[in-house]
Amino acid sequence: MTVGVLAVQGAFAEMEAYWRSQGADIFEIRQLADLGRSMDLLALPGGESTVQGKLLRDLGLFAPLKGRIDGGLPVFAVCAGLILLAEKIEGDSTVWFGSLPVAVRRNAYGRQLGSFRTIGAFDGKPDVPMTFIRAPAITAVSSEAEVLSSFNGEPTAVRWRNISAFTWHPEL
Ligand code: GLN
Repeated sequence: MTVGVLAVQGAFAEMEAYWRSQGADIFEIRQLADLGRSMDLLALPGGESTVQGKLLRDLGLFAPLKGRIDGGLPVFAVCAGLILLAEKIEGDSTVWFGSLPVAVRRNAYGRQLGSFRTIGAFDGKPDVPMTFIRAPAITAVSSEAEVLSSFNGEPTAVRWRNISAFTWHPEL
């Protein structure tokens, strides 16, 4: 399986290491020419969603990636990647891809001290370690989406059609 990892900003190295450990071939998406390669999965890493979104626009990657995502390409999105996919960002009129029917609140656990680890159930598996890094919260989710994990009663991972998205970092 070939995974295209968005590598314009943020924790893409960790995402690449994870998919390599799963036996995938990976390539980095840094510029338009990189989208000439075929991929089975698009991985959107953690980082700073505002910076990533602006870079995607500046690099001309935004529209072609949105086309692939909305066209059904499987997507694995972490943290900032989830924010880029969200239909709504609380307190903000910005919508990036808007492809995933969730609302998110950025930096929901505090800006600097908002990073923590916990252990919880994920997709029917108990005791999965979950690392949150300046994570968003999912404040609303379509009833069509499947909630894969929760923290304090709020969803922290969802699957909807071709998209799996996490507020925590499964690759860590
Ligand atoms: N706080 C970041 C944002 O709002 C997301 C943090 C992360 O990706 N780990 O974009």
